[in-house]
Amino acid sequence: MITVETLVKSFGGFKAVDGASLTIAEGSITGLIGPNGAGKTTLFNVIAGNLKPTSGRVLMQGEDITGLPPHELFHKGLLRTFQIAHEFSSMSVRENLMMVPAAQTGETIWKAWLSRGRIREEERALAQKADEVLDFLTISHLAEEKAGNLSGGQKKLLELGRTMMVDARIVFLDEVGAGVNRTLLGTISDAIQRLNRERGYTFCVIEHDMDFIGKLCDPVIVMAEGHVLAEGKASEIMQNEDVIEAYLGT
Ligand code: ADP
Repeated sequence: MITVETLVKSFGGFKAVDGASLTIAEGSITGLIGPNGAGKTTLFNVIAGNLKPTSGRVLMQGEDITGLPPHELFHKGLLRTFQIAHEFSSMSVRENLMMVPAAQTGETIWKAWLSRGRIREEERALAQKADEVLDFLTISHLAEEKAGNLSGGQKKLLELGRTMMVDARIVFLDEVGAGVNRTLLGTISDAIQRLNRERGYTFCVIEHDMDFIGKLCDPVIVMAEGHVLAEGKASEIMQNEDVIEAYLGT
């Protein structure tokens, strides 16, 4: 699905990503781990079009997508979940989902709001789709809740739900488990697995919780100092001496 070829991203003289090469297989839930500062987030930002690489290439099913802006990648089905923007926190959960198709095509929020008023039919279809998404994620009871009032884990579910409002093919998830309680983490993990099996989503997940990664991800790619250190099943990776050293060395 995705091939990253000797990617470099420098900030001034410092290479946050330093020649990383990796592939994300179609249909996989690939984990991306590594000590703090390994370059995981920077790599995500480059793949998802939020940062331009210094050198190297990113391919999606053989097509060069290096440096494309996020809204063009969105049209190709490459999505990165992002935190609910401040403007959306006073809107309901359902409205947050309904905004996704318009807000992600590069339209301004105001234009999206105006068209909301005009196109009632489209709005009904979007509301129905939003309700299906909420049902899938088992959070229908939160439809009318303001997004800003959700707990950390519920927000993560909403972020995942946003990818379901469009035809996503590969979704990049950044720190799904951070600050999320065990029960909700289980719900998030279930949702990821069902999206993978039932809807054919490919996932790439950055996460620190090794229990979560071990249960969910295969393969797991380990980054350290801007490049890929190892790749394999979670159980094998944690026996790898280079990996152990990279973690203990920080
Ligand atoms: P990780 O997600 O693995 O913790 P990051 O990609 O966030 O790693 O960061 C990798 C390194 O790049 C870190 O040393 C970080 O300080 C540096 N870095 C990240 N973004 C910037 C930036 N915008 N400007 C300068 N340095 C940055």
